[in-house]
Amino acid sequence: MSSNYRGRFAPSPTGPLHFGSLVSALASYLDAKCHSGTWIVRIEDVDTIRCRPEFTQQILTTLNSYQLVSDEPIRLQSEQTHLFETYLTKLKQNKHVFPCNCTRQSLKEYSGMHPHLCQSNESMAHSWRLKINNENYRYHDLIQGEMLFTDDLSGNYPILKRKDGDFSYQLAVVIDDHLQGITHLIRGADLIDTTAQQLHLYSLFGWQPPEIGHIPLVVNQEQEKISKQNHAKAILNGDLTTLKRALHYLAIDVNKANSIESALNQAILAWQPHRLSNQISKTIEPEDLFFIQ
Ligand code: GLU
Repeated sequence: MSSNYRGRFAPSPTGPLHFGSLVSALASYLDAKCHSGTWIVRIEDVDTIRCRPEFTQQILTTLNSYQLVSDEPIRLQSEQTHLFETYLTKLKQNKHVFPCNCTRQSLKEYSGMHPHLCQSNESMAHSWRLKINNENYRYHDLIQGEMLFTDDLSGNYPILKRKDGDFSYQLAVVIDDHLQGITHLIRGADLIDTTAQQLHLYSLFGWQPPEIGHIPLVVNQEQEKISKQNHAKAILNGDLTTLKRALHYLAIDVNKANSIESALNQAILAWQPHRLSNQISKTIEPEDLFFIQ
């Protein structure tokens, strides 16, 4: 039985897959599979400074080793920049974006934010920023419940295309999710802050946003996201114990499973996202610290 459900895992290849990203990959996979849906992997490598092809390969090898295999050919965002340009042009035509010559130095007093329109022009090096308004966006998060974003669209005009020509995550993620027909986003709670801007872009393009659910983020004992900046380690490939511990953070116990395949199959049956409700983060347990140190 298949359904219209289409979910995705969309890692940015800025480092190898770490424990926290395995938990996110599993959540999106389990939600898709328990709905008999399609699950795809998309590599979000628009940032040419931070993303590296060798990390893309490592991530895909690790996902395969856990039998997390995309149901469709893997899309690399770096190969889709012509599409991002087309949609940016539409935003330009409708005056939803403006060119910006500001530098990091000139925005220093605003801590890197860009709180108002600037007197910039296209004849000098410029980025493209999204005009925002004070609209309040509301949506029902499949895991976190009712979400209301009141201040998220004020005080900052985010970049959609940088001066160096790279497109931003915000623009690329919305266009690709729409063009790939994604119906459900299940991702880490660190991305809640990006949601209002994404809903705003959906509304400017006149597109229906997907259903969205944010799982609690696994954090270190200092309550920080596990990331390359705090030396997150690559996880082992195809390791059943790692898989069981990752599932534990999704409130799933498959301790008796004796293979990756049976662990995944049991996890699909046991997946109950409401058990994660209203938790933004989960601190890594002492026995799992070696995954991140
Ligand atoms: N590429 C983003 C990241 O690795 C995730 C995008 C998303 O799930 O919306 O943080």
